[in-house]
Amino acid sequence: MEIKYINNPKNLPGETPSAAMEAAEIVTETYQFRSNSYYQSLINWDDPEDPIARLIMPEIAELNEWGRLDPSGEHNYTILPGLEHKYNSTALMLVSNVCGGICRYCFRKRVFMKGQDAVLRDIKGAVSYIKDHQEITNVLLTGGDPLMLGTGKLRSYLEALVDIDHVKILRIGSKMPAFNPFRITEDKELRDLLKEIISKGKQIYIMTHFNHVRELTPEAKKAIRLLRETGAELANQTPIIRGVNSTPEALSELFRELSFLGVPPYYIFQCRPASGNSDYAVPIEEGYGIFETARAQVSGLAKRARFVMSHMTGKIEVVGMDREKIYMKYHRAADDKDSGLFLVLKRNSKAYWLDDYDEIHDKNPLDSLYHSYGPE
Ligand code: SF4
Repeated sequence: MEIKYINNPKNLPGETPSAAMEAAEIVTETYQFRSNSYYQSLINWDDPEDPIARLIMPEIAELNEWGRLDPSGEHNYTILPGLEHKYNSTALMLVSNVCGGICRYCFRKRVFMKGQDAVLRDIKGAVSYIKDHQEITNVLLTGGDPLMLGTGKLRSYLEALVDIDHVKILRIGSKMPAFNPFRITEDKELRDLLKEIISKGKQIYIMTHFNHVRELTPEAKKAIRLLRETGAELANQTPIIRGVNSTPEALSELFRELSFLGVPPYYIFQCRPASGNSDYAVPIEEGYGIFETARAQVSGLAKRARFVMSHMTGKIEVVGMDREKIYMKYHRAADDKDSGLFLVLKRNSKAYWLDDYDEIHDKNPLDSLYHSYGPE
């Protein structure tokens, strides 16, 4: 199937309502717009609250002053442009500055902006850094979307990494199974490449990015099946986005359907306070309520996800809440000394990020417990 990419709202298909096109043209002056003919065809314009339209079509509210361009402080962990090393065992390579569409709530809008130099250019430098750091066992290719690269280009990245002994896992973060599943179903060479890398002893994980069950079309399901047949493992990540999956019903349906397809829900992210995101973010405590209620409605296999916030200091999991306090734990810490750190915070229903909690009731109350298992 021929997929046409649309970067200019003026080229949207005829059925697009004029109000939506007008909003897109205004917002595009600040934040890029990108979609494609397949993804646009999933929109139900008869529904004013259509989740697919909400995900891809610009809204004037994006122009509200809110958030920042680098909400997770990625610049702090940037070794060279396009190479990040935040967690001991994982390096991240930003290999593309294009996606199959642009999610309106994207936290890496900076990658798509003119004059930004966020994408990896010095592959040799990146590979040499990874070679020198034995602790790196995982490399995540991300961007933008690595599957927007031609298969030959993707091969050059994977081949550069495959000979590094201590790198055991290669992850590819991609929303292409949702935005353009034909990229997978119609490119046998891509699937053969994945098989070849796996046959060389590396495990490939495709980190998919389905946000709503309506993205799981027959074509997307076929792409998932073909990817799994290569031997790659799949796992899904999504933020909770207002109007897309911000109800327990929408989220549980997504969890359930993914589990039927053999794709475990992995991380459910707190929407990052990125510029333009005020209308898409859900406060942490409301999001946690949605997440837990959704989990209560599905089987064990469908509820393997964690609700996390990708904070500058680490991946912080929300683990519980009572009437007065909310409980969090460092699932991944940028600084090893924070690993497993437990936080008890006074509740704040308006908090969107850790920094919005101004009262830490207790920090690491489990400290003595951990130490009782540690060396004498
Ligand atoms: S797929 Fe990821 S990087 Fe691309 S626009 Fe969506 S959120 Fe941003």
